[in-house]
Amino acid sequence: MTKKLAVLPGDGIGPEVVNEAVKVLERLRRDFGLKIELETALVGGIAYDTHKHPLPDATLKLAKQADAVLLGAVGGNRWDTLARELRPEKALLTLRSELRLFANLRPAILYPQLASASTLKPEVVAGLDLLIVRELTGDIYFGEPRGVRTLESGERQGFNTMLYAEHEVERVARVAFAAARKRRCKLCSVEKANVLETSGLWREVVLRVAKDYSDVELSHMYVDNAAMQLVRAPKQFDVIVTGNIFGDILSDEAAMLTGSIGMLPSASLDAANKGMYEPIHGSAPDIAGKGVANPLATILSVAMMFRYTLNEPSLADNIEQAVSRVLDQDLRTGDIYTEGMKKVGTSGMGDAVVSMLGS
Ligand code: NAD
Repeated sequence: MTKKLAVLPGDGIGPEVVNEAVKVLERLRRDFGLKIELETALVGGIAYDTHKHPLPDATLKLAKQADAVLLGAVGGNRWDTLARELRPEKALLTLRSELRLFANLRPAILYPQLASASTLKPEVVAGLDLLIVRELTGDIYFGEPRGVRTLESGERQGFNTMLYAEHEVERVARVAFAAARKRRCKLCSVEKANVLETSGLWREVVLRVAKDYSDVELSHMYVDNAAMQLVRAPKQFDVIVTGNIFGDILSDEAAMLTGSIGMLPSASLDAANKGMYEPIHGSAPDIAGKGVANPLATILSVAMMFRYTLNEPSLADNIEQAVSRVLDQDLRTGDIYTEGMKKVGTSGMGDAVVSMLGS
C-alpha cells in the first residue's frame, strides 16, 4: 500500500537539508520499489509570513492524515519578536501535542570515521551507538500546579510539579522495550528513585512492563550516575528510557558525545508508532542559503522513519550503510571536516548518499 509522507521543510537550512532527504526517497521509489507519496506544506516562520500563522490548518491536517511527517527545522531571528503563540517554535509544540507524540527517540551514533569530532578520547566514543527514549508530554514541564507565588513573608517562590501517571510511564516503557528489541536487547531506565516518589512509581511500572519483554536485559540507574556514566563509558548503553526533564538534559549530553550536531536524527512517536522525524539541529540561520549545511541528520531521520513507522528495516539499513560508505570515501561537509578530507556542500553530500544506495 502506498504510504503518505508529509514533508515540512520549514526555515533556514530546513529546506536545504530536506531537499537532500527527498532525493534519497525519490531514488528509493525509482529503484527499490518504495511506494510512497510526498506532499509538502509550510511550517514555521515561512508559514507565518504567508498565512500569518506558524502552523496553518492545512499543514496540521496534512500532518494528521499522513503516515509519517518529515520536518526540517523552524525559527530565525526575524520571528523572535512575535507573540509566543505565533513564533515558529510554537508550531512544533502544537504538532507534538496534536499528533500525541509522547516518545522522543534520539540516537547518538558516532561513526568510527568521525571519532576525532568528539571532545572525548576516540577510544571512549568511537563506534558509539546508543538510543535515548525520552518521554515528551508529561513530567515537571507540564505538571500542575505551577507558578510563582508570594509567601506571607513577602518573598516570592517559584514552584513546579513533577507528575507521572502509570499509563504515561507504561506506554513510553513499551516503546523503549520494543526499540531495544530492534537493537542489542539492553534497556537502562533512568530516574531518581532514591529521592523522588514519582521516580519510585516510574521504576515500579517499568518493572511490571518488563515481564512482557523477558528477552530484554533491564537495568536501572539514578540520573546523576547516568550523567556521569555517559561521559565515562558511554558504550555500556544500548537504549536508555527516561522522563521528560532528565531526557532533555541527557539527550543533549549524549548528542555532544558525538561532536557533530549535523549528524543526529530524531523521531517522535505516538501509541501506534506514527512518527514525526527531524534532525536534532535547528534552522542554523548563520549558514542558511550558503549550501554548506550537513544534510546527513535529515537523511538519517528518513532511515529512522523506515525502521520505526514504515516497518522497512532493510531500507533503513540501506540508507545508514550508504551514509557510512560516503564517510569512508572521506567526503565531509564543513561541520565535520578535518584536514586531508574532501569538502563537499549540502547537495554534494546528498548526491553522494544517493549514489551509494544499494551499492
Ligand atoms: P542550530 O542547531 O540551528 O545551530 C547551532 C550551530 O550548529 C550553528 O553554528 C549552526 O551553523 C550549526 N549547525 C546546525 N545544524 C547544522 C548542519 N546541519 N550542518 C552544519 N552546521 C549546523 O541552533 P541555534 O543557532 O541555537 O538556533 C537557530 C534557530 O533554530 C533558532 O531560531 C532556534 O529557535 C531554532 N531551533 C529549531 C529547532 C527545530 O526546528 N527543531 C531546534 C533547535 C533550534
